[in-house]
Parts: sequence; C-alpha cells; structure tokens
Amino acid sequence: MSRALFRNYQTLLLKRTLLGEEDLALGLTKWRFRALAATLERAERDSFHYRRHVRALAEAGSALLKEAEHLESAADGEEKLADILEGLPFTSPEELAENPTHFLAVPHQEVEGLVTVSSGSQGPAKRVFSSRADLENVKSFFQYGMLNLCLAEADEPELDPLALFSLSSAEEKKLIAAKTSGQKVSLLMSGSRPGSVGALLTEALARWSIPCETPGFLPADPSEHDAFVQKTSEARATSIVGLPSQLWHMARSYPRPEGLRNVLLSGESAPKALVRAIEQEWNVDVYVHFGLTEFGLGGAVECQARQGPHLRETDIVAEILDENGSALPPGQIGDIVLTSLSREAMPLIRYRTGDEGMWLEEPCPCGCPFRRLAVIGRKKDKIVLPSGRSLTFYDLAEAMAGQAEVTGFSAAYASRPKPELTIAAHLKKDAAVSAGNLREAEEEAKMMKRLKTSLGDELPLRIILSTPTAGPAPAGAKPVLTRTD
Ligand SMILES: [Zn+2]
Repeated sequence: MSRALFRNYQTLLLKRTLLGEEDLALGLTKWRFRALAATLERAERDSFHYRRHVRALAEAGSALLKEAEHLESAADGEEKLADILEGLPFTSPEELAENPTHFLAVPHQEVEGLVTVSSGSQGPAKRVFSSRADLENVKSFFQYGMLNLCLAEADEPELDPLALFSLSSAEEKKLIAAKTSGQKVSLLMSGSRPGSVGALLTEALARWSIPCETPGFLPADPSEHDAFVQKTSEARATSIVGLPSQLWHMARSYPRPEGLRNVLLSGESAPKALVRAIEQEWNVDVYVHFGLTEFGLGGAVECQARQGPHLRETDIVAEILDENGSALPPGQIGDIVLTSLSREAMPLIRYRTGDEGMWLEEPCPCGCPFRRLAVIGRKKDKIVLPSGRSLTFYDLAEAMAGQAEVTGFSAAYASRPKPELTIAAHLKKDAAVSAGNLREAEEEAKMMKRLKTSLGDELPLRIILSTPTAGPAPAGAKPVLTRTD
C-alpha cells in the first residue's frame, strides 16, 4: 500500500506543553528536564520508598533545572540526562511487589485506578495505583495514538498534526470526529473494570465519537473460537487491538473480518515475522504498541510509517543500559529502564522492567520528535546453548511465525540428560495434519529443516505437530518457553 504521508498523531501530545516552540525536539527535551526535576522532588517528599534517597534525588533535581537553561540541542540534552540519571538508584519489580503502598505518593482517597499485575512472565504480582491525572494522561495517549490507525490514509493537509496545533480543543474535536466517522475499534482484551485498558481506550475514543467494543480475549477453549471470530467479524470494526499471539492465530485460521483496515498489537512482544504473517494473511496494516502496567499501560506506539514504536516521552524517560549500567547508543540491545515523568500516584525512578530493547537510530519519516524504542522481550526468556550463544524467545517466535502453516507454538528446553529443545507447533485448520491424511513424519522433517536454517544447527530439536483442537497447549494461547536446567 503506497501512501504519500506518514503521520504521527501522537505528536499532538506536545500541544499541551510546547505550543509556540520552534524546535520541537529541543523544546521537548527542556520540558522533560523540568518535569523530571518535579517528579524527583515529589518522590523524595511524598513517597516513603524514595525518601531514603533524598540527597541523590535533590542533587539530580537541581542539576536538571540548571542544565535545562543551557541546552543547545536535543542530542546534547540526552547525553546530559544520561549522566544525571546515572547518579540515581534503581527500582526493582520485587521492591514494588513487596510494598506497593511505600510507593504511593498521594493520599488513598485520591487513588482512582488500581490495577493488579498478576505474577508469571511479568515477574512478581504487583499493585499499581493511578490518580485521576495519571489516567487522564494515558487516555490522551490512547486518544491521539489511535488516530494513527483511525486516520490512516486520510491525506488532507488540514489533518497534518502540526496544522492541528493551532486549533482549539473544540475545533480539533469537531474536525477529527468528522474525519473519523465510520471508524470502529474492537479490543480483544479485558475491558469491563474501571481503569482497565478497555475502559480507558473506550473513553479515549469516545472523545472523537469513535465507537469501541471489547469482546475480550480469544477464548482459551479452541471449540469456542469459531463463534468468537464470527461475532468479531459481525461487529465490522475498522481496527482491531489485541495480543500478537492471538491475532497471529486468528489471521492464519480465519478470513479477514469484513471492513477491517488495520490491527494494533499490544501486550506481548511482536516479532517481525509475526507482524508480516498478519499483514499478509489479512492484507491489513499492522501497528505495534509497547506498554507496561507500572507506567499506566500506554508506553510507545507506531506511527503510520510503522517502523518502530515512538515512546510517549512526555510521560516516560527510558534508558537502555548495558550490564554495568552504562547507557547504550542506538542500535545496541540492552536492559530497558524507565522513569515516570508525570505519574502522580506512583512515581517510579529507574525501574528495571526486565525487558530488553534498543533505540532506533534513523529519524522516522513522520518527523515526530518522540524517539523510537524497539522492544525485544523479556530478558529471562532465553536459553544459553552449549556453544555459549543465546537463543531468545523472540528468535523462536520469529522462526515459528515465519512457517506458513503455523498459528502458534509452545517450547520446552531441557539441558539434561542432553540439551534438547522441543517445540509443539499448532498448525492451520486446513493444514494436511488435521485432514487425517497427514504424513506426519514427512511434515515434521520439512519443518525441522527450515527451523534449523533460522535457529542454527547446534540445537538438538524435536518437533511435535498439533492440530488446533489437540495439542500440548490450546491454539491461540500465549506462546511460552519453559526451561528445565
Ligand atoms: Zn514515526
């Protein structure tokens, strides 16, 4: 699909802070220095957890305010910011899980949203508090970020994000509501509870009068899939938001829902081959979002160029660090460490997310000053092969999504008695395997050969093929990598 313009409506988040600035990137950097100084001040004053670091926080805060006066360019600012952050303590998911109320920085009665992150791949269970203003910031991000999908291919000059800067909120609302008329969003995630992603997204889209319905996750029981997908198709959404693994399974197993223009993937890492699989099966544009509950769900979203998600830099400071805690340049993979810029109820400083990723170097054709962050996935989700090379979950998912008949998988690695990786692959409904006339051994051998090409030859590999209704894990379930070391 060719298109003249790649827009990023997320740029409109800058409207609240940078109206009238000539150099948006420099203006954003200065604004972030001051916002971070305010966050540090609030944390040392109101958060029991950070009070013990009062000196480091106060020093960093005054350095930020001083530097903000003399910044000459955004790049210069990023370097200075990295130096200042280095003097601040880290926060671990374990600390947050143990004493969530130690992080609370507003009185209990001001908490409007409380989300509990269950344990499992996301680390220990934790409670995350939000104030009304925190929820409002997330809604703004959803409100503008979703326009990248809902205004895709609307090429009128009046819809250029910078042209919208000069409009009042009422004018902006009127124009965009008219241009998004006929759009509809379907969210295949949880949506009923206040403060849930569904509730926030529905409220955000309602500001443009875009309807949003939340049928929920693809059911765990594969026998319910046909009815669920049919209902989803009948809803005639123009955009679907859902988990990468579930949309991968749906796109390979069912025809494109009528009227669907694009898909937004969120909640898990989205390997390139998986994105391509959905794009090709359904002939739609696929956008990627990265978010963390600890930072209010919304984090980074792709613009219409779809070349990596732009971080919500009005609300989050991200660092990519090596093992020694030093900041890494663009293109190098390291630990993603986040600091909240605007969160009132639960400011988090240098939070170790447990995810790995990297900054993308090239400027994005959309021209938005928010930098792009490519997320690779959970740091723990990897196996170290006998040669010392590591194989990540992302590598596995990339290789599996690249197999045309596969709709999902689960993997188990055992290092004893000898290292072996067993992959259970779910095959498409119409693949030979479910027709009963399968030559299983032959199919397995073919897939094995292709996987060895992508994953490398040193790995002893076993493949189990399964149909959507019979297999070690239900089809459409989150792919997992379990290890027995
Ligand atoms: Zn962009």
